[in-house]
Amino acid sequence: AVNVRGAVKSYGTNRVLDEVDFTAQAGQVTAIIGPSGSGKSTLLRAINHLEPLDSGYVTVRGELIGVRLHKGRLRELSERAILRQRSRIGFVFQSLNLFPHLSVVENVIEAPVVTQRVPKQQAIARAKDLLTKVGLADKIDAYPRQLSGGQQQRVAIARALALEPELILFDEPTSALDPELVGEVLTVIRDLAAAGTTMIVVTHEIGFAREVADHVVFIDAGRVVEQGPPDQVLVAPRHDRTREFLGKLV
Ligand code: ATP
Ligand code: MG
Repeated sequence: AVNVRGAVKSYGTNRVLDEVDFTAQAGQVTAIIGPSGSGKSTLLRAINHLEPLDSGYVTVRGELIGVRLHKGRLRELSERAILRQRSRIGFVFQSLNLFPHLSVVENVIEAPVVTQRVPKQQAIARAKDLLTKVGLADKIDAYPRQLSGGQQQRVAIARALALEPELILFDEPTSALDPELVGEVLTVIRDLAAAGTTMIVVTHEIGFAREVADHVVFIDAGRVVEQGPPDQVLVAPRHDRTREFLGKLV
C-alpha cells in the first residue's frame, strides 16, 4: 500500500497541501480528482519525492520515501537512495515528455539500461512486449514526432512499465490529448488495472474513475474533502463542495 500521512507543502505563503491523508491499497486504482490548482500534481510529485514535503510523510510498502527516521526526525535520503526508490515508482506526466531524439523502443529501454543496468538485448525484448501490450508493435522504430498524442502517451506508459514498478503514478495522462485519442490511453490503464497494477491516477475523466477506480479522493485547496468508493464519492457525495465540483463537470 501507499500511505500519505499529514502531507503539508507550501510555496511561500501558499499552502498547497494541507494535512493530506490517504491510503492507496496495493493492486488497486486510486483516483484523485479536484479543481485546477487544488494540489493534485503536487501531491503526486510528493509521492515519489520530486517535491519534498514540509511535514508529513509517504510510505510505499511500509518504506519511507525520500527520507529516513534519524533521532526522531525525518532526514533527507542521499540522492542515490532517492533515485533507487524512484526507479520503483513509474510516473506518467500530464504533458507529453518523451525524448524527441530517441526512437520509441529507445525511449522505453533508456531507464532500464541506464539506471537498472539491464542488458540491452533483454531490455529490447521486454520493450517490444510492452509496446505490443499498449498496441504499438508497429511503431517501435518511429520517433515521437511521428506519433499522435495518444500514441506518445502510450509509449510513456510502456516506458513507465519497463522499470517493472510496484506503483505507477499518472498525472492526467489524457489531458494533452484530443478527445478522440483519450479512449485508447484509458483502455491501456484499464488493462493494467485488470492485471492488478497498483496505480494512483489524477484524472478529470469522472466516467473513467467511476468505472475503474477502487477508491476516489476528492481534494480541494490542498485538503481531502472526501474519499471513498466511487459509488459514494462520485454518485452520492456527502459534501456540498464535492457535489458542486461534480456538478460543474457535467
Ligand atoms: P491542475 O488541475 O491545473 O493540474 P493541480 O491540482 O495539479 O492543478 P498543482 O499543480 O499541484 O495543482 O498546484 C497547486 C498550487 O501550487 C497552485 O496554486 C500552483 O500555482 C502552486 N504551485 C505548484 N508548483 C509550484 C512551484 N514550483 N512554485 C510555486 N507554486 C507552485
Ligand atoms: Mg496538475
